[in-house]
Amino acid sequence: MLVLLFMLSLLAAPVEYVAHEGGHYLAARLFGADATLHFDRVTLDRGARLSDTERLLFLAAGPAIDGIVGVTGLLLLVQRYTPLRLVLAIWLARPLQFLPPLLGVDLPLFALAGGLADTDEGQIATTLGLSPRAFIWAELALAAPLLALIVLRLPATRRLAILSVLSIGVMAGWAGWLAWGPLVLP
Ligand SMILES: [Zn+2]
Repeated sequence: MLVLLFMLSLLAAPVEYVAHEGGHYLAARLFGADATLHFDRVTLDRGARLSDTERLLFLAAGPAIDGIVGVTGLLLLVQRYTPLRLVLAIWLARPLQFLPPLLGVDLPLFALAGGLADTDEGQIATTLGLSPRAFIWAELALAAPLLALIVLRLPATRRLAILSVLSIGVMAGWAGWLAWGPLVLP
């Protein structure tokens, strides 16, 4: 069971990247804008124009995919633990990646602040006239109880082993995608 979990965890980040960016890409195409799908982002082609509302939906489409898959996985996981259900549910962990830059606010590192503003959520917040930091904190606050529920739904006697295998697998798959993703989707 742990071997299966590890293999699914390895695939989690590459699949999530493609689905997330695919969400942005499909939204752009839906609005008639030519776009290019890269391994870690979607760029609008020259001359592609989106209205303000279309741009908001284009930005939200990626995180929305994470949310839909994550909530679906969580609803299944609440019924019964399986490695696949867990690996889908942890798509809800997306905002965790923003925690280090959020906590690093006291450091005079402008790159970190710029980094948060450049995220999908940061750009959505800016477009809506909200603070990117407050918006991302709110997203984290929303995700935290759901992530706690995921942990609680794991079989208690194997919880630590499952979380360890999951974390190592996801991190390795993430690093692998950053290294080899550009070969698949430049
Ligand atoms: Zn995105």
